[in-house]
Amino acid sequence: MLGNEKYKGDALLQKTFRTDFLTKKSKINEGEVPQYYVDHSHPAIIDPALFDVVQMEMKRRARPGHRNYTPHCFSGKIYCAECGGMYGSKAWHGDIAWRCNALPNGKTRCKTPVLRNSTVQDAFVMAFNRIIDQKDEIISICEDTIAERCDTSRLEAEMVMLKTELQYVSGLMEQSIHTNARVAMGQVEYTQQFQEYEQRFKVIQDRIAALDQERATMVAKMNGIRGYIATLRSEDRIAGFNEALWHNTVDRVWIKPDEAMRFEFKGGPVVEG
Ligand SMILES: [Zn+2]
Repeated sequence: MLGNEKYKGDALLQKTFRTDFLTKKSKINEGEVPQYYVDHSHPAIIDPALFDVVQMEMKRRARPGHRNYTPHCFSGKIYCAECGGMYGSKAWHGDIAWRCNALPNGKTRCKTPVLRNSTVQDAFVMAFNRIIDQKDEIISICEDTIAERCDTSRLEAEMVMLKTELQYVSGLMEQSIHTNARVAMGQVEYTQQFQEYEQRFKVIQDRIAALDQERATMVAKMNGIRGYIATLRSEDRIAGFNEALWHNTVDRVWIKPDEAMRFEFKGGPVVEG
């Protein structure tokens, strides 16, 4: 349901169009007239930023191989600095341990260490506390990052322009259909002209789709950084592991062959240990 563009406050115009100029009968658009979006034609039911996030999550879930279960909070976040591969879990002495999953050419495994669950947890506590100790500085860096790299105004301005152009081309197409219905005209000429409009329409539409995707990526990134700032503001030094905090703040952890760890936190800060 959230995939329906009406939830975002955008209308897919031209869902119906008039076939008979005189009786003004409407017909469902089955592709005779291309469809296009116009933003804000009616009030949004859900926040557009949230909609974008939901869209990305739905795309992620739709990918083949995605199973709908809750993975361990370390899954997909720990990486081997030797081969670049992902660490995976295995049962180990009644506990879970993490190690590089890669077996390059069926030869020996990477020299990066096998880590107990508790080792990763303790390392997180230390790295997190180091971040907290410098949180004012980090928050200001995050805010600069949002200002410099998540400004969607250029994209939005271009989209407004393109949508106006799209409306104009669509108007030409509709006019062309109506003229053809009323006036005897050369069908070859008509078809050729219509195809030209259609081509123009498609180019603009593709550009809008690309910009929309770019904007959604930016918004998702910005929301991630904002979440991280909010977490930092509300948190203090921790005494023990906290799964929600891990989830909200850790982007990736790299394990080096000498057992040192590199924590990459969401929003940019890195702690080498
Ligand atoms: Zn490896």
